[in-house]
Order: sequence, then structure tokens, then C-alpha cells
Amino acid sequence: MSRKITDEQWKAIIENNKEYDDQFFYAVKTTKVFCRPSCKSRVPNYNNVTIFDRAEDALQAGYRPCKRCKPGGYHLPDEEWVWQIETFIKENYTTHLTLRVIAEGCHGSPFHLHRVFKNRKGMTPIEYLQRKRIEKAMKYLLETNWSIRRIGELIGLPNPSHFATLFKKYTKQTPREFRKRKRSEVLIDEHLLWNDKA
Ligand SMILES: [Zn+2]
Repeated sequence: MSRKITDEQWKAIIENNKEYDDQFFYAVKTTKVFCRPSCKSRVPNYNNVTIFDRAEDALQAGYRPCKRCKPGGYHLPDEEWVWQIETFIKENYTTHLTLRVIAEGCHGSPFHLHRVFKNRKGMTPIEYLQRKRIEKAMKYLLETNWSIRRIGELIGLPNPSHFATLFKKYTKQTPREFRKRKRSEVLIDEHLLWNDKA
């Protein structure tokens, strides 16, 4: 069963105290991951922590074992880890993400995370991140009149020239060109549709 954290347990988590391993496990609501007290992962936000006496109880409650500390001896399969990484990127692409930040959020070393992700997805986590950003940017460019700068800020690329360079790398055109061209295509389509009906 789950319980509220005691001061002693919180101290053990902060200090990565091995002596408490297997006495309890801590789960983090935001990441849906659970760990041993000794886990070297970044200390979570106190308010998001739930304590479990047994690893099985954490699993039952829908938490997944940490890739790094393998709580209760449970391993997280690579495909599930990749899914966890994708979810983390989708939820955080608007912020300043680096491989290190992604690795911290997903409980692994940057090197290991990079390698496993690339093996499974055929692209690096950073490429995946940039593609997500560009997809979102395309949507905003088409559906809103927001400035290029504002769109860049919303997708985690606040430097306009960096945003334009990256956008061009993936789409072969600048954000401005993309918006202009796509809009004229839409107009032509509507025109054709109108003629068909007539
Ligand atoms: Zn852990």
C-alpha cells in the first residue's frame, strides 16, 4: 500500500541512503516512475512523492520501475523506456531541453539514453525533439497569424535565426516561405473546388 512520506524517508531519498533500500520505495506522480531510496536520479519535488512498502505495490498502482536503479529487481524494457522518453519530450519540448535534461527526467545516463533511443527509433532523441518542434511550428504557421518570433518561443526555440535554420533543415524552406507558399496553395485549392462546383 502507499503512504505519506516521513521526514526520515525524505532524508534517505535526498542522501541516496543505501541502508533504506528495500525498506521502502518512492514513486513520483509526475514521471510515473518509482525508485529505490539510494537512486542517483535527481531529487524529486517533495509534493509529488508517494511511498510504497513493496515494489509490487508501486507496479500495481501504475508506476514503472526506474531504468537506473531497478527497484525490487524490476527492469524496464527498452521499448518502454523509449516510450517514456518520447512522452517526456512531448511534454517538455517547449522548454530548453538538452540530452542531459532528458536523461535526468528519464532516469538514465545521457550516453545510454542516446544509444537505446537511436537503436529503437532510428534517430537521436535530439532529432526527435526537433522534429516535434518543427511539426508544431508548421501547424502554428498555417493556423495562426502569430509572428515567427512568437512561434519560435512557443516551441522552445526562442532564438529566431536558430529557429529559421532548423526549420529550413527539415523542410527546405524558411518559416516565412513555408507560411506564404502553403497559404497560396490553400487559396488555389479553394479556387479549384469552387470551379468544380460551378
Ligand atoms: Zn531510480
